[in-house]
Amino acid sequence: MMIVMQEQASESQIEKVVEHLGEQGFDVHRSTGALRTVLGAVGGNRTFDFRLVEVMDGVSEVHRITEPYKLASRTFKSERTVIQIDDLRIGGDEVVVMAGPCSAETEEQVEATASAVRRAGAKVLRGGAFKPRSSPYSFQGLGEQGLQMLRGAADRHDMKLVSEVMDVSQIELVGKYSDILQVGARNMQNYTLLRELGRTAKPVLLKRGISATIEEWLLSAEYVLAGGNGDVMLCERGIRTFESYTRNTLDISAIPVIHKLSHLPIVADPSHGTGRRDKVAPMARASVAAGADALIIEVHNDPERAKSDGAQSLFPEQFDRLMTELRIIAPAIGRSICLEPVGGKAWGR
Ligand code: PEP
Ligand code: MN
Repeated sequence: MMIVMQEQASESQIEKVVEHLGEQGFDVHRSTGALRTVLGAVGGNRTFDFRLVEVMDGVSEVHRITEPYKLASRTFKSERTVIQIDDLRIGGDEVVVMAGPCSAETEEQVEATASAVRRAGAKVLRGGAFKPRSSPYSFQGLGEQGLQMLRGAADRHDMKLVSEVMDVSQIELVGKYSDILQVGARNMQNYTLLRELGRTAKPVLLKRGISATIEEWLLSAEYVLAGGNGDVMLCERGIRTFESYTRNTLDISAIPVIHKLSHLPIVADPSHGTGRRDKVAPMARASVAAGADALIIEVHNDPERAKSDGAQSLFPEQFDRLMTELRIIAPAIGRSICLEPVGGKAWGR
């Protein structure tokens, strides 16, 4: 921490700050310039509230140098985390694509969508059975029945499954069916849920809250890591800004920022990040170019009749085309993407 004293700070004010920091376990180094005194405080406690110093008499500015999160930081672990689920690796050279409907609705819908996204090269099926909807009157998901449909389709098509868990009480059930537990944007700061997920052995996909800073997001990941679960991937899914043309503003810059600050894999969600089908492919391409380790994309076999998020769900043929484009972009930045469409000829070609 660096403390810049005011020009007119008195010696006793400076001494008071030095004494206070010493009491908190910091080693304080003092440099006295012609106009100001600057104090460098090292050691101490990561959770120390620097605002306590900021409001002391004679203090002009305080700059924190150490991140408030530890386990999630690159300083703590310099090599990137690769999350391994059987032979699937998230965070390695290959950009992993997760795709599927917003919600599981019917057996036919889940099967048609899963087989289409698998043929196009997706390795993880996405789909919600417990849906966090803005309105209590909107479709809330099929619960366990939905999870059964999703698991069945994932197994038939040799895919992993990611599905959302909204509450501590659902962890066991969702964990029984799903390979990756998704924490939705609205739950990013549900610390009880995060703590409990820290005790599970399943990888967690932690979405960024709609108005969360990157630091708050990493602190939420820290909750899971601190509980003993090291398999956390972060998911940028768009934040709320003053712009209303798109549903959210996909913060693509968060991708390189996360890579700099953290060793955890970063997933981009251009579907919730834009809310509009026609904007999903450009943002997916940009996310891969920016270094995303994975993408999560909503695809529906009949999006115009989807029970949730139809407007942002791709038609299978659009997803297939997007995968073809991503296969060109990924190698340009030294990454690969599921090279061959699975099961022979790709859907729609
Ligand atoms: C979803 O993935 O369908 C979802 C509800 O996402 P988010 O939490 O990002 O809104
Ligand atoms: Mn959705």
